[in-house]
Amino acid sequence: MEKYGGEVPSDIDELTALQGVGRKTANVIRGNIFHEPSVVVDTHVKRISRKLGFTKEEDPVKIEQDLMKVLPKDHWILYNIQIITFGRQICMARNPKCQECFLTEYCSYYKEKMKRG
Ligand code: SF4
Repeated sequence: MEKYGGEVPSDIDELTALQGVGRKTANVIRGNIFHEPSVVVDTHVKRISRKLGFTKEEDPVKIEQDLMKVLPKDHWILYNIQIITFGRQICMARNPKCQECFLTEYCSYYKEKMKRG
């Protein structure tokens, strides 16, 4: 309130300087409120992006940077929403429904699973 007069800032550094706001939340705010191209890395995005070969990283900031290189900028905001839905309905962490998946040809996990038989 003191610094921004009750207006939520859109700048990533200003957002993450606010108490309780991490990078993930800051990017959600930037993308969904301010429509600023931003990549949100949550547990689904991390797991599935690694399976699809978009990144080999574990660190969310590095994953975000890798995704910004491989995804078209106009897909950055939607990617998170799409992957969350995909991660909840098809590519669940414990028991992914690979038999229903349309991404098998791109998935390293699936290829490994097929090799093992
Ligand atoms: S093939 Fe299986 S593990 Fe790979 S993305 Fe699809 S559901 Fe997930």
